[in-house]
Amino acid sequence: MNIHSSLSQIKGVGDKTYDLFLAAGIRTVRDLIYFLPRAYEDYTSIGQISEIRPGKSTIKARCESISTRQVRRGLRVTTATLADDSGKVKAVWFNQPYRATQLKSNEEFFFSGNFEFSYNQYQLTNPSAEKASDLPQQTDRMLPIYRSVKGLKVQLVRKIMSEIKPLMTMLPETLPDSIVKTEKLVSRSEALLGMHFPNDEADVSRAKERLAFEELLELLIASQLNRLENAQLEGWHIPFDKDLIQSFVKRLPFELTNAQRLAAWEILQDFENKIPMNRLLQGDVGSGKTVVGGLTALQAAHAGYQTALMAPTEILAIQHAETLRKLVEPFGIEVGLLTGSVKGTARKTLYTAIASGAVQIVIGTHALIQQTVSFHKLGFVIIDEQHRFGVQQRHELLKKSARMPHLLAMTATPIPRSLALTLYGELDVSILKDLPKNRLPIVTKIWSPNSRTQLYAHISAEIEKGRQAYVICNLIDDDPSNELKSVEAEFKRLRQSVFKQYRIGLLHGKLPSQEKESVMASFARHEIDILVSTTVVEVGVDVPNASIILIEDAERFGLSQLHQLRGRVGRGVEQSYCYLMMSTSAKPSQRLREIEKSNDGFHLAEVDLELRGPGEIYGRAQHGELNLQIATLADTRMIARAQKAAKRFVHEGNDLLQYKELADNVRHYQRVTTLN
Ligand code: ADP
Ligand code: MG
Repeated sequence: MNIHSSLSQIKGVGDKTYDLFLAAGIRTVRDLIYFLPRAYEDYTSIGQISEIRPGKSTIKARCESISTRQVRRGLRVTTATLADDSGKVKAVWFNQPYRATQLKSNEEFFFSGNFEFSYNQYQLTNPSAEKASDLPQQTDRMLPIYRSVKGLKVQLVRKIMSEIKPLMTMLPETLPDSIVKTEKLVSRSEALLGMHFPNDEADVSRAKERLAFEELLELLIASQLNRLENAQLEGWHIPFDKDLIQSFVKRLPFELTNAQRLAAWEILQDFENKIPMNRLLQGDVGSGKTVVGGLTALQAAHAGYQTALMAPTEILAIQHAETLRKLVEPFGIEVGLLTGSVKGTARKTLYTAIASGAVQIVIGTHALIQQTVSFHKLGFVIIDEQHRFGVQQRHELLKKSARMPHLLAMTATPIPRSLALTLYGELDVSILKDLPKNRLPIVTKIWSPNSRTQLYAHISAEIEKGRQAYVICNLIDDDPSNELKSVEAEFKRLRQSVFKQYRIGLLHGKLPSQEKESVMASFARHEIDILVSTTVVEVGVDVPNASIILIEDAERFGLSQLHQLRGRVGRGVEQSYCYLMMSTSAKPSQRLREIEKSNDGFHLAEVDLELRGPGEIYGRAQHGELNLQIATLADTRMIARAQKAAKRFVHEGNDLLQYKELADNVRHYQRVTTLN
């Protein structure tokens, strides 16, 4: 048996067990070895009930009495009295009614949970319960808890792990010896033994350190290699035309900010470079990324190259097409719009125009990556709101060029530097730090539902002054089981009573796209005063005259989503307001308080990273593909350490192929982290 053997080779794994593991994605011995515990029961210190102290506690006790009651819908509470020779203690479980059948009164169990003061008494809350007779004889150790595998008891998982323990002691090292030594890491074999069979906390933390380091090292070697490999590619040469750019800038209705100038200049420089550009353009909502895209696309078109601009929603694609048309048509450049709702002959004609090069700038949604779309000479790809797309989608679009095209990925979700490094490799970054001048900071207020009337009066006053407003609701259909305001019901209510003197529009994702388009267009032309909408306006939508956004049930939204929504206002010279309406008059969450305090997207991103972790923020898809088991992308110190080691490894010219497992994992990461 070796690590590539099938699980069925392990003693004690019959057909049934094998199938259950297989269903959980565990097929080989290696898969099992890397099926790491998610936590541990600490049996190194078992206390007496009489000596129990608040905090995490483990006791060995019998269950004297147990009962379950339904407290309200969706909440069943099981209460038990546990006893040992020294005394008694109360235990409480929420929604675990099976405890009543599990805890036979004549048997001893280990209970491990949090001993805390709650509802006026001390209790063990949601303790785990392990039958004492099931535990290994020597109980002076930490017991691993595995993610549950449907149909398999954790005791069986542990037993099978002990079967392969001898094999774990012989696992070969995956990392270069020099790295293990300089970084003072435990060996791979020690690390895995430490994860599955630790004696104490220290074993676990040494094991985790080693495994986390290894994961990040793989990721960061991958990013180094991506950069080196990109440097080997030959891209399109797009020469800078000073007169063209100057006359473009002169025609703009505003002056570019310094940050916009710098970003545009960096891109134009990259265009002249031999190797394809691989650049991330980060700028907070409203910082003016689109015009930077427009300017550079014009330069590409002027040099005979097509640009494809992909946006995550149809509304946004439509808006970009309108904006860019105004910017580039005076220069004789054609802009095409390709979305799912361009159909029939119109679609065919557009395909032909794209293929012949008659259309130089093509803006669209995912429709752009379909097989049927082929370009004449695609030189430049812009991905707007890039975190909305997966690796594969970016790839599909880039593949439509004969050579690797220049790539500009734009995002308003600021990514702390450490994360950008790990997620996107060693790419180049341009940042739009300052907002266009004459912008007043948006005033943000948390609002309680009892004071709606005052708020509506304020909104009316703004509308009388000639401004427009958004009202954002969470859901489309009326769902009686919750109290969320449905967008349609709210639309009716506002139109029939509260704001009946104003023009009210309705927008949500389920409308036919022509209607979406016409509603957005009317709002932009100020034929609508108040737009009641779902979060379809969340990204990108730009109507500078709108100065109020009221977000209903605000506590349901994430921090970055709220920031994005708020970014729909504050895009013109007027004072703008964002109201966060809570569903109840309860105390506002920390999220809401943070967003009320700050307009700074970078700051909020960091807060969000702390509150929720990277997976939630940077797109499940992208983070999921990374598949980090142990390392966390929030651990900037570990990232910096692995970054150094990765650089050294690559620059010393080490042969990756000498380290087979390392090489395999690096290849995987190279594929998922590259931008282009
Ligand atoms: P985002 O970075 O969120 O994509 P947009 O590109 O949509 O921002 O720009 C937001 C608004 O600011 C648009 O109405 C745009 O015309 C305007 N704008 C962009 N650059 C400037 C500038 N330098 N001065 C004034 N307004 C600008
Ligand atoms: Mg935008």
